[in-house]
Amino acid sequence: MVTATTEAPIAPSVAIAPSRGRVVVADELGYCWGVRRALDIIQDAAGAAGPIAPIGDVIHNPQVVERLRARGVEGAGSVDEAVDRGFKRVAITAHGMGPHLAGEAEAAGVELVDTTCPLVTKVQRLAQKLVRQGYFLVVYGDSYHPEVRSVIGWAGTTKAIAAKKVADLPWNAPRGATGPDVVTPPRKVAVVSQTTKNVAELMKFANELQALVAPEGGEFRLCNTICEPTSERQNALRRLVERDRVDLILAIGGKKSSNTARLAEVGNNLGVASYHIERPEDIDDGWLADVRIVGVTAGASTPDDVIEAVVVSLADRGFAPPDGGIRPVDPDYVPSY
Ligand code: SF4
Repeated sequence: MVTATTEAPIAPSVAIAPSRGRVVVADELGYCWGVRRALDIIQDAAGAAGPIAPIGDVIHNPQVVERLRARGVEGAGSVDEAVDRGFKRVAITAHGMGPHLAGEAEAAGVELVDTTCPLVTKVQRLAQKLVRQGYFLVVYGDSYHPEVRSVIGWAGTTKAIAAKKVADLPWNAPRGATGPDVVTPPRKVAVVSQTTKNVAELMKFANELQALVAPEGGEFRLCNTICEPTSERQNALRRLVERDRVDLILAIGGKKSSNTARLAEVGNNLGVASYHIERPEDIDDGWLADVRIVGVTAGASTPDDVIEAVVVSLADRGFAPPDGGIRPVDPDYVPSY
């Protein structure tokens, strides 16, 4: 939770006299600690020693990707591609990478800058430990997501799988069940989560899986590795609904941003129409009909000026911006992990 502040809140730069309603922004939104840290490292590295190629998207936000490109930070699909394009340095993004990347960088003779969020590193190390302890590892998350792939990579075993639904796992019956098409889980199963998932849905997944594993002395272990900044954003969103009684929620973030999609999902689950938008142009005026209070939140990779642009656009449409601006940033904040 951010408590102390040293920076002034960011106030929208356009003052309009609205009459339709008002905007309330979540008290936790936008860049998370890990993304700020990764951007600082990579921009310092590019400023100090020239162009650098993060492998994959450095951040799931097209506006930031464009700005970084202007500063010599340009994503590449692989180490080989970066080398072919003339880069002498590559970077691991905040989402992390499997251990293979360090070997590939060394073999290609390029320098490697690691911006993996320490909260992701924690999950990678935990995955290794659980595998060493004999657990079959289930990573609750999107199998295509770089963070999930990095955790599976560090687990370093074929006894690890990513899934978002229990039905996606290879087991279809509780331990002890028998029958021609029955596939039961092993005796020891552990779950870790992609850091940006929804806590309530992780718990639902874990409860269903535990019912398959626990019979006949099975050992089930759940490690809630959803990160503190993600939980805080989801909690702040709940406060928009329960305390501020918003009529509509706009969750701002790149279309590929998993945690922004989760915010819109949480808003809808709380019974408030919620939309994932990338920029002000995505706002549909039809959504605003009969709305008095618009709640605004943003994913962990959304820069402040994009949030500000959405608030200004809402002001243009007659919704008063929040008195205190968007939100202050605590530069000394470090999440617990
Ligand atoms: S969402 Fe959490 S784990 Fe991911 S970069 Fe941000 S702080 Fe780190």
